[in-house]
Amino acid sequence: MEEKLLANDLPKNKLHLKIITHAKIVFDADVDEIYSRAEDGEFGVLLNHIPFTCPLDIGVTKIVTNGKSEHFTTMGGIFQLKDNQALILTQSAEHGSDIDVARAKDAKERAEERLAVSTEDLDVKRAEIALARAMVRLKASLNK
Ligand code: ATP
Repeated sequence: MEEKLLANDLPKNKLHLKIITHAKIVFDADVDEIYSRAEDGEFGVLLNHIPFTCPLDIGVTKIVTNGKSEHFTTMGGIFQLKDNQALILTQSAEHGSDIDVARAKDAKERAEERLAVSTEDLDVKRAEIALARAMVRLKASLNK
């Protein structure tokens, strides 16, 4: 008996990526390539990559779709990949074009001032993390 192929049965040639925070779904679409920053360094994922999960660092996640790239900040959390379905669960995420550059510059200056005067471990750690967030926001805003 001849069987008809339904659209859903056709082999998919895209990855699917969701970027989710506790507050919202920031991105939910098919992509061709994903690049992000894990705690132990940068990584890239193409179609049919083996499944893996890793903790994310504060960084920029780049996606490429039909030759066009977009950039998001991703602030820690986890990356999961299985069966070409990728999921980023992160503290906060912003598309490069949604970033308030003046706010990120202010946050960078505040963190740098704190680092210049503080010697307390906790303050230094907090300021370093705030500085890292501000720096990736500025980086993502340049790339869009
Ligand atoms: P700030 O000191 O400017 O508040 P922050 O690093 O403390 O920066 P977060 O706690 O990381 O801010 O984020 C709080 C919320 O504000 C999140 O929803 C985040 O997406 C948003 N946010 C923070 N900075 C920016 C920015 N420069 N542009 C757009 N959204 C931002």
